[in-house]
Amino acid sequence: MSDTAVTPSTATFDQFGLAPDILKAIKESGYTTPTPIQAKAIPVVLSGRDVMGAAQTGTGKTASFSLPIIQRLLPQASTSASPARHPVRALILTPTRELADQVAANVQAYAKHTALRSAVVFGGVDMNPQSEQLRRGVEILIATPGRLLDHVQQKTANLGQVQMLVLDEADRMLDMGFLPDLQRILNLLPKERQTLLFSATFSGEIKKLAATYLRDPQTIEVARSNSTATNVTQIVYEVAEGDKTGAVVKLIRERGLKQVIVFCNSKIGASRLARSLERDGVVATAIHGDRSQSERMQALDAFKRGEVEALVATDVAARGLDIAELPAVINFDLPFNAEDYVHRIGRTGRAGASGDALSLCSPNERKQLADIEKLIKRPLDLQRLTVDAPVRHHHEDRPLRRERSEARDERSRRRTGGASGSYDRPHHHRAQPVDDFFLKPYEPSPASVRKIEETAASNGGAPQKPAPKRQLAALLGGLGMPRKTPSSS
Ligand code: AMP
Repeated sequence: MSDTAVTPSTATFDQFGLAPDILKAIKESGYTTPTPIQAKAIPVVLSGRDVMGAAQTGTGKTASFSLPIIQRLLPQASTSASPARHPVRALILTPTRELADQVAANVQAYAKHTALRSAVVFGGVDMNPQSEQLRRGVEILIATPGRLLDHVQQKTANLGQVQMLVLDEADRMLDMGFLPDLQRILNLLPKERQTLLFSATFSGEIKKLAATYLRDPQTIEVARSNSTATNVTQIVYEVAEGDKTGAVVKLIRERGLKQVIVFCNSKIGASRLARSLERDGVVATAIHGDRSQSERMQALDAFKRGEVEALVATDVAARGLDIAELPAVINFDLPFNAEDYVHRIGRTGRAGASGDALSLCSPNERKQLADIEKLIKRPLDLQRLTVDAPVRHHHEDRPLRRERSEARDERSRRRTGGASGSYDRPHHHRAQPVDDFFLKPYEPSPASVRKIEETAASNGGAPQKPAPKRQLAALLGGLGMPRKTPSSS
């Protein structure tokens, strides 16, 4: 491992020597200046060197590898219709479907004025359209590991000409037990290639992965590993467990939060909280691994359009959600895994914007709080929060038995190193067996389902609550990048 790059203080996109077609796309994306990770990584990736990037999602890291990849592949771009002229030359692996989809949308936007083709493949959806696209040929392939191996097995994906590999959110891929899949994929790639590894945290395991598969990488950091973004104000409120729902309502109302992600540790807890918030007049919907891909996309789009105030999420949803400049996140539960805290609060204060990370801590979560403070190497501001008229729904005073057992499962899953995410892989491929946490039926709030269906039916009909400013929806990505699965361009 080697030196750390130096940030040019006054970087501009023009100085990297990117092709006019790429600069045009950057301009159309609305970017005026490179973010620090882009200023550091783009020249290094352009030089052909391997990179080990410590950057949280929200720092602009996707463009930091996508733009130079497109630039480096441009000489091989072809307008020929022949699939042979469009082999997979760059492979971007991500842990979750959501992240794959978002990275693909970014790549497609940045490459739209070039002849380079891109595609995304992930599990949980029909393989056939993906196979069709792969057969026609794509230079840049974005994939989750499991589905990629399925395509390799079916001979619809050939990795023999990959020159550039990106392991995005590598820490999460390892957490999710993808190491065996990653090793299989890495063994299928040419040895002569450029490898870029991005990770929010640099654990011993990540360093080992890098030492095995990267060649003399340049380490690039924009924030200390395991540190949290400095532009995020973090407050922890001491609250009794039974007052948490009321506390969330109070924080949303008192702070005038129009868009907030509320994190829960369990899927059932998330569904239940979304329902309780709705009863208390907050437009909320739950998003987690039990919901189908299209349900998750619908809920996310409704949130981005500003039709949902509170998106109640598990850590599954935390990863790969590109919701720029979200003003706040609330941790309804403190995560069992301290690193998830870093990932969760990375949803706010993105790309230099400021944000609030508000956490509720009940007396029995002190251990989790101590773990978080140890990880981020600083004490968190602890404040008391009194909930004047506790919002208690009769049946909610005690967690449901199923929820208690789910929380227990989650704790044990964390201890044994399992992780959450939108898996696309059969369980036998994982290092850790998948907890039945992921297999339990989801009970969506009838109100939120109705709301999303009504919205979809009326094709953007009037929201129940005053709609947040259009500008906010734009910042949240609702009016920006194409959300559809990228296709060849
Ligand atoms: P990422 O960390 O790649 O998920 O990016 C976070 C968000 O920042 C995305 O919405 C990007 O579109 C946006 N973004 C990336 N680069 C820039 C830039 N140079 N200026 C403004 N926004 C950017």
